[in-house]
Amino acid sequence: MNVPFLDLKAQYLTIKDEINASINDVIDKTAFAGGPFVAQFEREFSDFCNCGHAIGVGSGTEALWLPLLASGIGTGDEVITAPTTFIATAEAISFCGATPVFVDVDEQTYNMNPDLLEAAITPKTKAIIPVHLFGQTADMDPIIKIARKYNLVVIEDACQSHGGEYKGKRSGSIGDAGAFSFYPGKNLGAYGEAGAIVTNNAELASKIQMFRDHGQSKKYYHGMIGWNARMDGIQGAILSTKLKHLESWTEARRKNASLYNELLLNIDGIITPYQAGYTRHVYHIYAIRVKNRDKLIERLAQKEIFCGIHYPVPVHLQEAYNFLGLSKGSFPIAEKCAEEFVSLPMYPELTEAQIKYTTDEIKKLL
Ligand SMILES: *Cc1c(COP(=O)(O)O)cnc(C)c1O
Repeated sequence: MNVPFLDLKAQYLTIKDEINASINDVIDKTAFAGGPFVAQFEREFSDFCNCGHAIGVGSGTEALWLPLLASGIGTGDEVITAPTTFIATAEAISFCGATPVFVDVDEQTYNMNPDLLEAAITPKTKAIIPVHLFGQTADMDPIIKIARKYNLVVIEDACQSHGGEYKGKRSGSIGDAGAFSFYPGKNLGAYGEAGAIVTNNAELASKIQMFRDHGQSKKYYHGMIGWNARMDGIQGAILSTKLKHLESWTEARRKNASLYNELLLNIDGIITPYQAGYTRHVYHIYAIRVKNRDKLIERLAQKEIFCGIHYPVPVHLQEAYNFLGLSKGSFPIAEKCAEEFVSLPMYPELTEAQIKYTTDEIKKLL
């Protein structure tokens, strides 16, 4: 049996006619850059997130960058985030001219540990970016409380948590803004690159709208220096079509995760994902932790079961961030997890038989 890590084709085949029709519609109306299909998706996605505004952009990286810029964050400022994330979170901070400052993660949830947050705040701190890693929201209440105390902006990195919830609130709707990625492999994936920012702050929303479109509110009248960070029309139409299915896909992911949990229960040497009581985990990634993972990954691949690692090197130890002067030992939990993570195949179309085959092989190997 073959168990790919991700199977985008399987999903496309279930919605092929709808997708093809929506692409044709965009071509018919030649609404390629921004335009009505993006505007419609923005309305639908803001409703989905229970937020007043959604702004479609070109990627999740831009969705993190623009709210920082629009909040006036720049050279000399510090922005706090977690080292257990994709590098884009830190890059968005760096591309404002600011410096990323890391706070270690909690060993159970792999998200920013709020108990360590206050100690990382300095007079230069302007914002916090909690990352909702793997589809589980960070513990937002204590983070927001500290942010309010020090007057800091909170931007959620919700790039892995479409439809996730924290105490009944939608992921992305809790801080000042939420950043989503629609990279093809994400829970809601475009057929190309795309992202969006959601916010309940109308002033922030209109600033971000200007930033993503060359600082113009009227064509060729530029009130400020912006950028081209618009979403493609075709991506907007595809995302609208796919959004209708997201809830059932999320339920399928959660069901797959439960089955994995059940079949991997009480196996020595495996730590399965922990779902905190305050969250609705949407399992973008189903990551277990094991020692000596390389051997396991290699042997599973021989059985045509393909795993991933998210992420093998925490951001503070990436070569790109050498200049921060952070060495091994700076964030011990993040470092330990990075050495032990193994992401098992996870997508809505994964079958029970594939999950059973995968867990049987894992049991044999451990
Ligand atoms: C995917 C991802 C991003 C970046 O999104 P892109 O659309 O690839 O630019 C940022 N942060 C996290 C946590 C992500 O998983």
